[in-house]
Amino acid sequence: MRFDVITIFPELFASFLSESLMAKAIEKKIIEVRLSSPRDFTSDRHHTADDRPYGGGPGMVLKPEPMAAAIEAVSRGPARPWRIFLSPSGTRLNQSRVRELSRLDSLILICGRYEGLDQRVIDLLADEEISIGDYVVNGGEVPAMVLMEAVARLLPGFMGKSQSAEEESHQGGLLEYPHYTRPPEFRGFLVPEPLLSGNHKAVREWRLKRALAKTLALRPELLAGADLSAEALKALSRLNSPEPVSSKVRKSKTEGV
Ligand code: SAM
Repeated sequence: MRFDVITIFPELFASFLSESLMAKAIEKKIIEVRLSSPRDFTSDRHHTADDRPYGGGPGMVLKPEPMAAAIEAVSRGPARPWRIFLSPSGTRLNQSRVRELSRLDSLILICGRYEGLDQRVIDLLADEEISIGDYVVNGGEVPAMVLMEAVARLLPGFMGKSQSAEEESHQGGLLEYPHYTRPPEFRGFLVPEPLLSGNHKAVREWRLKRALAKTLALRPELLAGADLSAEALKALSRLNSPEPVSSKVRKSKTEGV
């Protein structure tokens, strides 16, 4: 998959793309990332990419001409990429949208800065506005990294074991079960017994039960949209009765969420 990121601060992506799994994915050609700056599409001596807002008020706004020229330059080619403007007013990103985006061949990620981007560029050239959450950060660069990484890690070959992505939080509508590693006892707390048993069925059942209990305790609203198997529904009904879930989940620290 190809990502074209349009930003006035391309240097912010240097370490993000040169470390760890993102760097490996680029090396293995699972992803290609191109960075362009609207400043390269300006004609004045200072490469001005922003200007004062019409109507007054604080801050600056990204100018339409350089941003539009940058977007159009990377949109050329046989298949037009899907263009996303990162914006706190956009639709909130979730795992199911990430999964859909991971099926596309190329994405253009448009990063705003300052007060934002001239609305005409958004209206004319963006296919979608995406927010990473109901809060405001300084620019679209960190949101673009969040989106890129979330999408990239679903691509075949990105992770060592493809299973790691399949079992994660939100993948089937549930939060993921808790993880433990050695030692078996840490500060008096034990690793839950089924995980030490070597019995795959017991491990699977324990993990399903903990994922359900964790979701019920921390994000109960997710259960309504979760794609639950018959086994999961049965386990969930057992969790719901006879005792209240909160006491069950918090019964012991090693069994906790
Ligand atoms: N004045 C804008 C507003 O109130 O909506 C906020 C501008 S913000 C300081 C600058 C840029 O950061 C935005 O244009 C957008 O590209 C990006 N940004 C900030 N918060 C974001 C979020 N939660 N999700 C996605 N992008 C965000």
